[in-house]
Amino acid sequence: MRLRETSEEQRFRADLRRWLDATLPTLPEPPRDRDDWPARRAHDTGWQRRLFDAGYAGIAWPREYGGRGATPTEELIFLEETERAGAPYVGCCFVSTLHAGPTIAAEGTPEQRATYLPGILRGDDVWCQGFSEPGAGSDLASLRTRAVRDGDHYVVSGQKVWTSNAQVADYCELLVRTDPDAPKHRGITWIVMPMDSAGIEVRPMKALTGVGEFSEMFLDEVRIPVGNVVGAENDGWRVAMVTFGFERGTAFVSELLGSMRLLSDLVEIAKKTPAGAGRRSTAWDDAGTRRELATIGAELDAQWALTKRNVSRAQRHGTVGVGGSIFKLAYHDTRERMGEVALRVLGRARLALDDPAGVSARHLDHVEERLYVLSLAIAAGTEQIQRNIVGERLLGLPKER
Ligand SMILES: Cc1cc2nc3c(=O)[nH]c(=O)nc-3n(C[C@H](O)[C@H](O)[C@H](O)COP(=O)(O)OP(=O)(O)OC[C@H]3O[C@@H](n4cnc5c(N)ncnc54)[C@H](O)[C@@H]3O)c2cc1C
Repeated sequence: MRLRETSEEQRFRADLRRWLDATLPTLPEPPRDRDDWPARRAHDTGWQRRLFDAGYAGIAWPREYGGRGATPTEELIFLEETERAGAPYVGCCFVSTLHAGPTIAAEGTPEQRATYLPGILRGDDVWCQGFSEPGAGSDLASLRTRAVRDGDHYVVSGQKVWTSNAQVADYCELLVRTDPDAPKHRGITWIVMPMDSAGIEVRPMKALTGVGEFSEMFLDEVRIPVGNVVGAENDGWRVAMVTFGFERGTAFVSELLGSMRLLSDLVEIAKKTPAGAGRRSTAWDDAGTRRELATIGAELDAQWALTKRNVSRAQRHGTVGVGGSIFKLAYHDTRERMGEVALRVLGRARLALDDPAGVSARHLDHVEERLYVLSLAIAAGTEQIQRNIVGERLLGLPKER
């Protein structure tokens, strides 16, 4: 791992900063209604298009697939600078740019890369992930959605659940069972399902936050061309592991950088929020609170160092490996405690709609954010599953039966 920036990397940072400074003030406001999915799609894909036009889309993807071919260090600089500048979150383009696209780049045929990658990079197409089913979440290999071969097509029937952004997606990275008689990990296929195919019913579900991010997806004899299989028939479990490698790898980096920014906001707020007897002191005057904030800061710094290590490893070995699971476990733990300290520091101000003390605290005091953090323990593989991975693959503990 190399931590010092070369002069080329410094130039990359300076150019990016200039571009962000010039571009961000010209962006439209994000939609006020968080449940207006067409508007959210338009906003997120609009940002992706700006990145594309400026040559920053697919920052770490190989140049031959339309990416920028940036080094891991440049990728981290990109994430750091966009977050520092308050650039929009990847949003509806999460699946397409952060794991479906990279999976197709790594495992797809030349025709599949030519068909799907340009639309992802330009922000023309939004993707969703049809992996989980009722009864097949952690135990994903038990999935039952059936694909039966009929000439040049598969006929697919079954049910998916927790499909984020399904209501605005153009394509779905879908796992189906193609051989019901094979051992469960061996009869699965990874296939691209166009979301305008006949036989797909998307039923949005309200999450705890009140926003309909997820949907149930019912598939009734959906015909998908055989040519849409990525990897080989019945080789889908291996391809899904490639997808998870990307999903658990660097997909949470912007989250981490966002949390670092929120922590500095929180320190500013603590210095201004009245606390103690007669409210004559501030939250910052309390040594215990300062210690807690410092501990969280140190943990986030350590997780940033772990991210750099994971990214270096991914460059050498293709995936981040167990480091992705360790990062996810550590990050969620820190983020939970940060939310608790934030509520204490903010005191009564957490109930206010206005930002306290002139510092934006919308991510800290907002009830929605506190509820959202709970999902970090489940999304992209639950905490228990990550612990199993760390136990078996890193610590050499006996395998789960
Ligand atoms: C924000 C968010 C977005 C999501 N988006 C998508 C999406 O777009 N597409 C998609 O396909 N899915 C998506 N999911 C679903 C997610 O992948 C599943 O929720 C997750 O894999 C867990 O599956 P489950 O909900 O069925 O829980 P279960 O697997 O039923 O688990 C229930 C509990 O049992 C524990 N458990 C289960 N097995 C074991 C074991 N072997 N050892 C120890 N403990 C165990 C789990 O840790 C958990 O606490 C999303 C989830 C969230 C929260």
